[in-house]
Amino acid sequence: MSKQNIHILLAENHHPTIDTIKSTLTAQNDLKYKFDVARSGKDIIEKTDSNKFDLVLMKHSFSDTNGFKVFDEINKRKLETPVIIIVEESEEKLGVEAMDKGAYDYLTQGEIKTVALSRAIRRAIQRKKLEDDIKESLKKLETMAIKDGLTGLYNHNHFKEILKHEYKTAKRNIQPLSCIMLDLDHFKSVNDSYGHQFGDLVLARSAEILKKLVRDTDFVARYGGEEFFIILPNTNLDGAFILAERIRTAFENNTFKKGGISNSVTVSIGISSTSDNNVAGDNNLITNADKALYRAKWRGRNNVCTYEETEFEEAIHIKEEEKKIKDFTIKFEDVHENIRETCIESAHKILRELNNGWGYVNEHSIRVNLYSEKLIKGLSMSDDEATVIKHAALLHDIGMVGVNSKILKKKGKLTEGEYNLIKRHSNIGVKVIERTKLFHKELPIILHHHERFDGSGYPHRLKGENIPYGSRILAITEAYDAMRTDTVYRKAYTHKEAVSELKECAGKQFDPQMVDVFIRVINKD
Ligand code: GH3
Ligand code: MG
Ligand code: MG
Repeated sequence: MSKQNIHILLAENHHPTIDTIKSTLTAQNDLKYKFDVARSGKDIIEKTDSNKFDLVLMKHSFSDTNGFKVFDEINKRKLETPVIIIVEESEEKLGVEAMDKGAYDYLTQGEIKTVALSRAIRRAIQRKKLEDDIKESLKKLETMAIKDGLTGLYNHNHFKEILKHEYKTAKRNIQPLSCIMLDLDHFKSVNDSYGHQFGDLVLARSAEILKKLVRDTDFVARYGGEEFFIILPNTNLDGAFILAERIRTAFENNTFKKGGISNSVTVSIGISSTSDNNVAGDNNLITNADKALYRAKWRGRNNVCTYEETEFEEAIHIKEEEKKIKDFTIKFEDVHENIRETCIESAHKILRELNNGWGYVNEHSIRVNLYSEKLIKGLSMSDDEATVIKHAALLHDIGMVGVNSKILKKKGKLTEGEYNLIKRHSNIGVKVIERTKLFHKELPIILHHHERFDGSGYPHRLKGENIPYGSRILAITEAYDAMRTDTVYRKAYTHKEAVSELKECAGKQFDPQMVDVFIRVINKD
């Protein structure tokens, strides 16, 4: 390993001492020394000003000054060269005093002839290196605390401090202050298409573009992920707008390139200024810029928008537009509902035609719909939920289209096989209806309208509250209608008989609470 080079300034005017120091150090032969000599206080100050020495070895008194004064002067100029003082044997007190003032060490005239000299030099050099390392680390820490690692811009926290300070200064000096908030457009898709590394490169280059376009007195910060904030002291709204447009155009015309990738990214910009009518503190500058930025995005991105415009447009247009959207939605939902009703009517018509005019299923469905409407009124639910259940009532037996009409019209008791064929109608109903995509909410109600409260129904043997609410309604209303209607093999039940049958089956076949409500509303009629 090559020896370390040490450049020493010998602040000494006594030739024999200079020679002694040189020969002692050369004899030690542990480091490589280079010497300059300064013979007066003035000479020392001039020479140390260059900061080129690794060490100053200085005697205590000179003809024009003493070592302490030189020392004070060196400190005043913030020169960072380590100093070792040489004192007479009898003056060790002065050496200690010098160290209190910042000298790294002291040596007596006797010690400069011994190994103590090189040891002191070595210690001083090491201590200096350590101090330099600590200073460097502290500087790094300071930078890390205020700067963003990826872009080198001020980070979010420090940006807030600056804004607070600049806002106060602007108020005190009655000067304008404006802010620019900027967000890269569709940045997620840049990451998705080219990877995060390319995304990072775009962020770092974006920071460079911004720094190039602003004045030295402006502050550029990384506000968040792909959002930047620029504080513009002594700048009014018009000035901020001109800069913002310049930035927007710069991005529009720029291409980010790396390897084979080449991509453009536009930006949306929101501007706020102390001239905005609601600004009462630095935070308003952020929220206003954010609102304006949102507006710029809303306008289609690659746009600059001021808070002033935002407020104006919101007052005039947004309310109008929001109302139009709402009106449209309501009217369009009406159209949709008409389509659904027409569709149900057509389904009934087709079913009747396919059954050669036999309309029992349709008539039964219409009555179940009416009974369900009564029961729904006794329960609490929204209009939309009620509409879905009423549609389901009208469609619940559409699946009968897949059951042989001989079975449907059979006089006398059904065999188990025939009954199994009838049970298929729940599934068939769902299959034929789901094709329209108009009744997705009705489908589960139709599928499960033959489940029983005790879990013994079909097709899925659902139990209790696992059975859809609408299906539990249909189970009761359809059973009531079936009982009240003459069939080919039995006469209709009276109202009283049907009610007593419902009571009998409450908790087994039917939801018991719903049965109570149904009996109450049907008795009232
Ligand atoms: P918009 O035009 O509405 O702003 O769309 P956008 O895709 O830019 O907006 P969004 O806020 O949905 O997405 C921001 C993306 O920025 C998502 C996130 O992954 C990315 N992002 C945030 N920070 C970084 C980062 O440090 N590096 C990289 N590569 N991507 C980042
Ligand atoms: Mg974005
Ligand atoms: Mg964003």
